[in-house]
Parts: sequence; structure tokens; C-alpha cells
Amino acid sequence: MNARERYVDINRRLREGRAAVFTADEFKALATQVDAEELAQRADIVTVATFAPMCSSGVFINFGHGSPPIRMETLTLDGVPAYGGIAAVDAYLGATAERPNDPGFGGAHVIEALVRGQRVELSARGKGTDCYPGREVRTSVGRDDFNEFYFYNPRNVYQNYGAATNGGEAVLRTYLGVLRPGYSTVSYATAGAMSPLVNDPECRTIGIGTAAFVAGSVGMVVGEGTQFNTQAELDVAGIPMGAARNLAIKADAKTADPRFLAAARVAGYGVSLIIGVGFAIPVLDADMARRLAVRDEDISVLVRDYSRVDRPVVLRTDYRALRSGSVTVQGVDARTSCSSSLAGARRLALELKRRVLEGSFPVRPPIDSLSCRSSPGPLVMREPDGNIRPGRRTAAAAPERLGPAGYARSLCVDCGACVAHCTDGALSMGVPDWELVYRQSDCSACGACVEVCPRNAFQLKAALSRKKSGR
Ligand code: SF4
Ligand code: SF4
Repeated sequence: MNARERYVDINRRLREGRAAVFTADEFKALATQVDAEELAQRADIVTVATFAPMCSSGVFINFGHGSPPIRMETLTLDGVPAYGGIAAVDAYLGATAERPNDPGFGGAHVIEALVRGQRVELSARGKGTDCYPGREVRTSVGRDDFNEFYFYNPRNVYQNYGAATNGGEAVLRTYLGVLRPGYSTVSYATAGAMSPLVNDPECRTIGIGTAAFVAGSVGMVVGEGTQFNTQAELDVAGIPMGAARNLAIKADAKTADPRFLAAARVAGYGVSLIIGVGFAIPVLDADMARRLAVRDEDISVLVRDYSRVDRPVVLRTDYRALRSGSVTVQGVDARTSCSSSLAGARRLALELKRRVLEGSFPVRPPIDSLSCRSSPGPLVMREPDGNIRPGRRTAAAAPERLGPAGYARSLCVDCGACVAHCTDGALSMGVPDWELVYRQSDCSACGACVEVCPRNAFQLKAALSRKKSGR
């Protein structure tokens, strides 16, 4: 049976209620008992997912015309600038766009509010023309008011992004999280063996037109993501050691599920969007089954030193080692933390399995393959005086001790980014659920988790009581 025939076969089995659909966890557990040939016989579809900060995300909105009509040239949503240079009432709101003078609030927060069904303030200006006489509009809008409201994410689900550490002497605040000096922490952001593009590393089933499950909404791959690269060195499992491939994705945001999307504030870096993306991968044959059986310990990860401009690799390890909580970097015992939520990825994969089985998520072959190409290499960025400067370095400030931390479970997405920063052992990831466990009795109120949590789930009690009393 060739690939096309297998797609037809799988869809017939789905219609007849005979299809065997597994989440990635379920499939990998089965793979410890049977070989690839038998896996291919027993399984039809495997759902894979990730739930991680993906900065290169955003939404297109068409607001529709009002009276008098206006050609929106500059606009903000809840004070966050959106790009309006797309005809009269279309805009693109990037997840990382920030409200001026308020870098803790940005496009991701507006997107989350809209997906939750909340209303936001639209403020727009135009110069006034004969066909669009309006010059200014200020109104409240919600997602049901829009003609179109869809995600267009130019770069999502990196294949194997790698991990970061800090061999310098000062704290670094990066998009991968806060990195303590002296190689004392390692940060990474991936669902590891659950992640879509490590389960189909050559993109046999993921291509242009493949259905994508984006924040609980059915969308599709529209092409290679920006910075797409197929030339990275492969590890023994045939998975690129490096960022390599990624995907450009479109999906309806009107039907998105707020459980699978969360705004994030990454300390010292800015706003990002934590978003769930999943795929239903058909088990075409034994080779595909072998790929889908990949485990955390099979996937090589390069750990780079972000204190150096050239970011040299200082450790080659694997995701099982990173998940263990510590690795040795240059002779130093480094605590590891992940800003991608494995618990969230598992929930998404389970929901996708349910959708596939009920027939509301399509399983179809791509209409075209993603290309093979390399990156032309990094652009050398120079300041106006011709020098190359590293980013701002911030000395580690002595934390203020105010009282035990207050933990808002409803804000937590179980990413685990805080765990490595808690040197008192008050924070850990529960096994096997991989949800955050907070033991308040062990908390010394050092305040480290307050800074690193992208969801502001931790606040020191003194700060909380001040807030409640309005002081
Ligand atoms: S305040 Fe410090 S000790 Fe308490 S949970 Fe946060 S990091 Fe751990
Ligand atoms: S409390 Fe910890 S696990 Fe929860 S969202 Fe914040 S950093 Fe992530």
C-alpha cells in the first residue's frame, strides 16, 4: 500500500469507527513492547503536540466598515500597536508587540482576551479621504464583531531549538528564560519527544495543506516558516541537531479554545504567546512507526552559552537528561528548566485524538512538500559607530524577602520555567503528570520565581496584601 492508498485506508477506518488513534505518549508506550512492523499494523494515527511560547505568532483582523468609513492608518488594541498598512480596515497584531511604556503587556494579552470572548478598545486614526472620510475611531470590539479573525503565525513549532546556559558572570534575561551565571542553569523550550517535527523529521506527512490543530482550532500549514533550514546536522535518530525546520500556520481564531493559549511575559525579554499546536500523524508504514516511537533519550540537544555573542556549544545532551532536573555543564551542576508545558502538550494531544475520532479533524495528505533549503547565515548587526555590542547585562540583584510566595494555580500553565530557579526545593514538576508542585512550607520567599514566571502566577504575599488593600 503506497502513501496515498494508506490515507484512503485510514479515512475509511475512521468513518467505520475502526481506526486506532493514539496520543504520542500512548504510542511510545506501545513501542516499548512491539517492533516497528507491528506498530504499523496496530496503529493508524498518532497525535503529537507542543504548548510553548512562540513569539512569531499573531492575528489578522478585518474590522468591517463603520459609518463614516475610515481608512485606519495607525491603530491600537488596548493600547498595543497593530500594523494597519493593509488596506482600510485590516490589521495584523503581532504577539510580541508591546504597549508603549508598559512592556509587560502586549499583543499576546490582547489575543488572549479576544479568544476568551472579552472586549478590547480599538483606537484608530486616518487622514480622511473622499472615500473614507472618517479620521478617528475609538470603540470597544470583540471577536464576534470581526469579519475575519485568524492566526497567521510565520514561524511555529521549531524542530529542535536547543538549550541555553550562561557561562558569564551576570544574570542574562533571554527569550528562553532567565539564565543564572556560572553555568548554574540551563533553559530549553520544547515538548521533546512529543514535539511535532521530531516525530516526522523529514516532513513526510507534514507539508503545505496539512491540517494543524492550533489553540484548539482547525487550521493548516501554509508553508515553510521563516528561518526554515534543512541543512542541520542529524543525530543518530535522524533528527536535526538545531532549530532546523519550522512551520508557517494559519487557523481560525474565532473558534480557538482559551485553554490552549496564554499570554506570557518573559522577564527582561518581553511579551510572547504560549500556544498549543498539534498534528494527527498517519502511520503510513513501518518507517513512519519507527520515527513516531522516538523517545526523549533518543533526541540530541545542543546547549549553547548565551553569554558569548557566537553562542558556542558547551554541552551535547538529550531531553531525558534535561528533564531530570540537572545536567553537568563544563564541570558545573546546572539546574534545568523548560518553558514549554508538557502537561499542556499532553492535554492538546488528547483533545486532538478525541477530535480525530469524532471526525471533526481532517487527516489528509499535504498538497505539496516543504522545500529543502539552507539559511544564508547570520546577519552581522553593528551599532551606528561600527561596533558589535553584546546585549544588556544585568547584575544579579539581591532578592527582597517579603514573605512566602502566593501561587495562583489558575494562571499557571505548568511550563516549569520557575523550577530551576527555586534553590529551596519548594517547586518541582510532578511525575507522571508533569504539573507544577508548590510546597509552601519549603518556600523561603527568595522571590526568584516571581521574576521568571511568564504568567505572573507567583506573587509575594506582602505584594498581594498591598494590592488587595489598594495601597
Ligand atoms: S519564592 Fe523562592 S523559595 Fe519560594 S517558591 Fe519562589 S523560588 Fe522557591
Ligand atoms: S508558576 Fe512556574 S510552571 Fe506555572 S506558569 Fe509560572 S513558571 Fe510556569
